[in-house]
Amino acid sequence: STKQAVTVIGLGPMGQAMARAFLDAGHAVTVWNRTASRADALVAGGAVLANSVEDAVKTNELVILSLTDYEAMYKVLEPATGALAGRVIVNLSSDTPEKTRAGARWIAEHGGIHITGGVTVPPSGIGNRESYTFYSGPREAFDRHRETLETLTTTDYRGEEPGLAALMYQIGMVMFWTSMLSYWQAVALADANGLKAEDIMPHANQTMAAMPNFIEFYTKRIDAGDHGGDVDRLAMGMASVEHVLHTNADAGVDTALPAAVADLFRRGMDAGHEADSFSSLVELLKKK
Ligand code: NDP
Repeated sequence: STKQAVTVIGLGPMGQAMARAFLDAGHAVTVWNRTASRADALVAGGAVLANSVEDAVKTNELVILSLTDYEAMYKVLEPATGALAGRVIVNLSSDTPEKTRAGARWIAEHGGIHITGGVTVPPSGIGNRESYTFYSGPREAFDRHRETLETLTTTDYRGEEPGLAALMYQIGMVMFWTSMLSYWQAVALADANGLKAEDIMPHANQTMAAMPNFIEFYTKRIDAGDHGGDVDRLAMGMASVEHVLHTNADAGVDTALPAAVADLFRRGMDAGHEADSFSSLVELLKKK
């Protein structure tokens, strides 16, 4: 086969899906995991389990890491630092941009090349062309391995600065966690009123499906610094957010989330934005 051989270190649900995708695409795959038994199904499917992490790194130029975080990378690679020279370490573990920058420096200190990745899909999305992963780091090394990395998901290269991929990942995650929390709140409110999650599903989905329209509408205005109140006014939003807070309080459900939202709107009002769009809240949130 002319397919590039790869090493995958870290065989949680994500690393297993990645190793499987490489095998399915005809790549020779070497694997290593702290808990060796997690490699069993992959070995049965044709992967080679390395005897040591050092052997796993020595076997292939391209080494994929799929670990819980960057702390785990130091734990795992500490005994193999002598093998890192000339290796391209594609770290698909999540962490903060700061942690990924420090990790990239550490790999470079040992003569390796570090490429940061931010995977935006669950394991079931690996091997799907509609999935995408952010990458950042040395361009030449990324370009050389892009085709192989495309076996996992499509690639979105953000630039040389190592933290960029992690930053894009975290930008998505702040939206993911808060959006899903808003859904748990809606489920709790529904439950207090005798409704099941299933009873609110079409409405919940419609509400979320409208979000891209709002994002597209506000994108141009925000970048132009335009918080014009011609479409929506913060004062209107404040009244609505108080209705939300009181509806939840009346139902006896937890109000931490709607109270936090009302608090931000109140601060916007106090800052004199009542006649501006509620997008003016972004000015409160920005770095001062
Ligand atoms: P897991 O946390 O299940 O995988 C953990 C892997 O890291 C295992 O191989 C585990 O080894 C290893 N590990 C953790 N700590 C150590 C340590 N101290 N020393 C040695 N090995 C260690 O994560 P996933 O497989 O679900 O995800 C991997 C990465 O992908 C994470 O960074 C996650 O944020 C990211 N990701 C995951 C998504 C998902 O839906 N799962 C979605 C997008 C990104 P062992 O088996 O021995 O415990």
